[in-house]
Amino acid sequence: MPLATQGYAAMSATTPLVPYPFSRRDVRPTDVHIDILYCGVCHSDLHQARDEWGGSMYPMVPGHEIVGRVVQVGAAVTRFRAGDLAAVGVMVDSCRTCPHCQMGLQQYCFEGMTGTYNAYERDGKTLAQGGYSTAIVTDERYVLRVSDKLDPAAAAPLLCAGITTYSPLRHTNVGPGMRVGIIGLGGLGHMGLKFAAAFGAEVTLISSSKNKEADARRLGAHHFIHSGNSAQMQKFRGYFNVLLNTVSANHDYDPYLQLLGLNGTLIIVGLPSRAPEVRPFSLLSNRRSILGSMIGGIPETQEMLDFCAERGIVSDVEVIPIQQINEAYERMLQGDVRYRFVIDLASLKQG
Ligand code: NAP
Ligand code: ZN
Ligand code: ZN
Repeated sequence: MPLATQGYAAMSATTPLVPYPFSRRDVRPTDVHIDILYCGVCHSDLHQARDEWGGSMYPMVPGHEIVGRVVQVGAAVTRFRAGDLAAVGVMVDSCRTCPHCQMGLQQYCFEGMTGTYNAYERDGKTLAQGGYSTAIVTDERYVLRVSDKLDPAAAAPLLCAGITTYSPLRHTNVGPGMRVGIIGLGGLGHMGLKFAAAFGAEVTLISSSKNKEADARRLGAHHFIHSGNSAQMQKFRGYFNVLLNTVSANHDYDPYLQLLGLNGTLIIVGLPSRAPEVRPFSLLSNRRSILGSMIGGIPETQEMLDFCAERGIVSDVEVIPIQQINEAYERMLQGDVRYRFVIDLASLKQG
């Protein structure tokens, strides 16, 4: 029996999200049926709901930071049982056979990963729907385990904000003796800050907001730069080994590139709609490079969740009922969130 599900969907790029009942597929032999407890609100949800990247498909139930309880598993499922805490992140499938899938880098699947929403499933015709909903049915290969040690609401953002910052910081071997700058203190930025500090690096938070210094220091920053203050930016010229750019709004890379020292790397994870201009001279000086990174593969996402359980790392969250989602989008645009909204799906299950 297809599973009756309640959700909130964007019906177009220009209208607010509205209640949207729909059905999840029957549980197949390798599927896990999860009752969703919490879903984080990522800036990518807003970008896609409003079609800021182009090609958005409606109706769209956003949400890819999903934590819930397993209710039922298919006959062939081996890793999950009813009652387990489980999670789904930014992808729900991929081809499973290409070299990148085989390496556990499913986000870079040759055929393209299947996003949790705003994507067609592998059948090429069913629209995948995300976590602003009461339940999800996902193949167990793309379901993660979450330790009961973690608060499930605060753990939800790990599934995107967490892995998206953990993965490139690991890839660039961030650790003791390295000077790392995190650009933007939002959902991704505050997780990047926690991870870089946990990995033992010297961390600086670079913000366009003057008033985030105290929070940045509380979250582990050793230094704080207000990017609008040219004297502060000047002082840190050539200083960093790695910069992690999480900015969601259109901006230029050049002022940040100037902050990199020899062989320094600017990691791009923020996805504004406009392509930035980059001056070749800013790259040639100090032999700098720009590196892009997309979420993380399934094995690394599990590694990150286990690392967080061991170290007690979670997101700083403001839990909201789903009825406040449109207001939450506006507040996210104004930078008025400390530091991730998380939807409590109980608000959609009552009556
Ligand atoms: P968010 O919570 O809204 O944070 C974005 C931060 O950007 C803000 O908190 C703000 O920090 C900074 N910012 C905003 N406007 C700015 C401006 N004009 N100039 C400089 N800084 C500005 O968003 P998020 O959920 O962390 O997502 C950040 C970006 O990453 C989004 O574009 C999202 O789509 C993308 N993303 C990418 C991946 C991936 O796989 N690569 C995964 C998830 C999300 P300050 O106030 O401190 O300046
Ligand atoms: Zn996301
Ligand atoms: Zn593949």
